[in-house]
Amino acid sequence: MNCRILGVAFAEPIGARCWQCTKTLSRRAVRADLSRKAGEVKLHLLGDPYYGGRGTLWGAKAVIDRATDILGLVDVQPTFMPGGELAVADGDAVVPAINRLLRLFDHAFATQDWHPAGHSSFASAHPGRKPYDTIEMSYGRQVLWPDHALQGSDNAALHPALDMTKVEVIVRKGFDPAIDSYSTFFENDHRTATGLDGWLRQRGFRRVFLAGLATDFCVAWSAEDAVRLGYEVTVIEDACRGIGIDLGNGRTTLDEARDRLSGLGVRMVKSETLTA
Ligand SMILES: [Zn+2]
Repeated sequence: MNCRILGVAFAEPIGARCWQCTKTLSRRAVRADLSRKAGEVKLHLLGDPYYGGRGTLWGAKAVIDRATDILGLVDVQPTFMPGGELAVADGDAVVPAINRLLRLFDHAFATQDWHPAGHSSFASAHPGRKPYDTIEMSYGRQVLWPDHALQGSDNAALHPALDMTKVEVIVRKGFDPAIDSYSTFFENDHRTATGLDGWLRQRGFRRVFLAGLATDFCVAWSAEDAVRLGYEVTVIEDACRGIGIDLGNGRTTLDEARDRLSGLGVRMVKSETLTA
């Protein structure tokens, strides 16, 4: 993708990067305009068929709008952490990172993977198959997982150290035995809605910030759906951890997820670039 800057205005050029091509912008590429709010600016992009014109360039700090921004906590459950059934390496490190982030937001939602025993996403439900195999289901390709997130189990609860004060809704997903649900908006058929979109819309949220587990599955699929539903989406990478299944071509599911997200215009940022 070739983004070319025609004109740009912002107050804090240091460390700014184009959110489309993620290229760091030199000072010469910008024209300061101190009338704009620091941290959020506009630029023109050329050569991008999806957006075709105008995007937002983030300065050194992006300012959280406490009224219309919401932080989504994706599957922060011990089942996905070291010692859990489907452990993501270093997965428990997201808990303190998320608790710090929550200070910037007035609103949050959480998702909870919530499977009945014998769920069709479990390798154990498919004789001869093993975890991390891929099979074709009626709704598309499905990775098979170890049994995890069993309804009512201690490891399927939201992590006990997670600050729940600002969590206004909890969306459970994956409870239909016949279909998995990575995204917090749609089950894996991409059609069956969880209801979260309606809730966010009725509450007036416009920008969705995501953190949690795992970057390359439930976080990535949630981000993709959120973009398609019209939200501005930011993934806070240091408050996420990924699985990174080897795809056999020198790349992992994490590489693929990052490519898909940046192609859709999802911002991938670090916590330190956000401010209240
Ligand atoms: Zn699951």
